[in-house]
Amino acid sequence: MKFNPADNIQDLQYFGEFGGVNPSISDSSTYTFLSAKTMFDTFEGNMEGCYLYSRHSSPSNLYLDKAMAAMEGTETANVSASGMGAITPTLLQLCGAGDHIVSSRTIYGGTYAFLKNFTPRFGIKTAFVDITKLEVVEAAITPETKVLYCETVSNPLLEVADIAGLSKIAKKHNLTLVVDNTFSPLSVSPVKFGADIVIHSLTKYINGSSDTVGGVTCASQEFINQLKDVNSGASMLLGPTMDSMRSASVMKNLRTLHLRIKQHSLNAAYLAERFEKDGLKTVYPGLASHPSHKLYASMINPEYGFGGMMTVDVGSLAKANELMELMQSRNLGYLAVSLGFFKTLFSAPGSSTSSEIPLEEQVEMGLTDGLIRFSIGLDNDIKRTYEMMKACMQELSIL
Ligand SMILES: *Cc1c(COP(=O)(O)O)cnc(C)c1O
Repeated sequence: MKFNPADNIQDLQYFGEFGGVNPSISDSSTYTFLSAKTMFDTFEGNMEGCYLYSRHSSPSNLYLDKAMAAMEGTETANVSASGMGAITPTLLQLCGAGDHIVSSRTIYGGTYAFLKNFTPRFGIKTAFVDITKLEVVEAAITPETKVLYCETVSNPLLEVADIAGLSKIAKKHNLTLVVDNTFSPLSVSPVKFGADIVIHSLTKYINGSSDTVGGVTCASQEFINQLKDVNSGASMLLGPTMDSMRSASVMKNLRTLHLRIKQHSLNAAYLAERFEKDGLKTVYPGLASHPSHKLYASMINPEYGFGGMMTVDVGSLAKANELMELMQSRNLGYLAVSLGFFKTLFSAPGSSTSSEIPLEEQVEMGLTDGLIRFSIGLDNDIKRTYEMMKACMQELSIL
């Protein structure tokens, strides 16, 4: 049977304590035991189905873990309080003093800052490379390298990682390939192409309502056990635990993810095609002009499309700011960071989400001043949105 991430989610069934159609929320931090022996065994991790303390695990979080693992095709998963709360323990679990990471240079600003400024304090060094050039990636590997890190579709430049190619390199050098799939849930299933660990910021598309932060690490049972080990697990000991109320809430939003992704993709593809025809410098993986269009087309589960993220370069930061303010005043979207909301969100990444990246490096990677990153919303009539956006651009002499 063909792997379909949304079908895998749908095929899971959970009932609430009283036969409710939604699972019960475990509103407790600690759990009682009838016998002291069972408590000891649970602490040691030997009692399947028993709960001890909600930083270790809780029924609500395990439900969402299961759904995330089903979506990504991994044995299991571990949800966390934020995307960074998934990324940082995962990398600290995989690497110790003296170890080395090869990472894409176009990654989420927080991840970049963690690898560039924070992990060196623990003796972990990172080489940042152009992830689209496999020979450059391989050349950066040293005998100390443990991890190859990338985003499926990079933030904010929408570069596409050749996960199958990277996986070959990772296997050859015995590295763990970690892929942040935040921009492309359902569209891309990185495990199919050989990723070992898949991470999401649930804050974005998966939750989709911009009301919480959350994250998940999808991996083998063995690795998740390591993360959650009471004596040596980075997730257990650093403690970025998701609250049960939140995981129940994210779980309910997950029910519509497949519908939302399809609509985000349709709307973004429509706008990207029009804006490119109008002569704007538009980057969208669904456009034939995108350098990795063919590769990405071969990677996606086609029914979910090329995703809802696109960028447009309007020439200067001043113009970008003027346009974003005008579009917001016409209620075409919000001038806000983040993505995956029902409403279109736009920001200038150079001055916001990627501001951790030094200016000269921004220039080198093609992150220009006038770049606007759009997370296209669920607009019912995208043609109408296009006409209104175009009017804004014409008023500001961008078009
Ligand atoms: C937002 C984001 C993160 C960080 O997630 P938080 O939930 O904000 O901690 C990581 N990676 C990508 C690609 C993101 O967009």
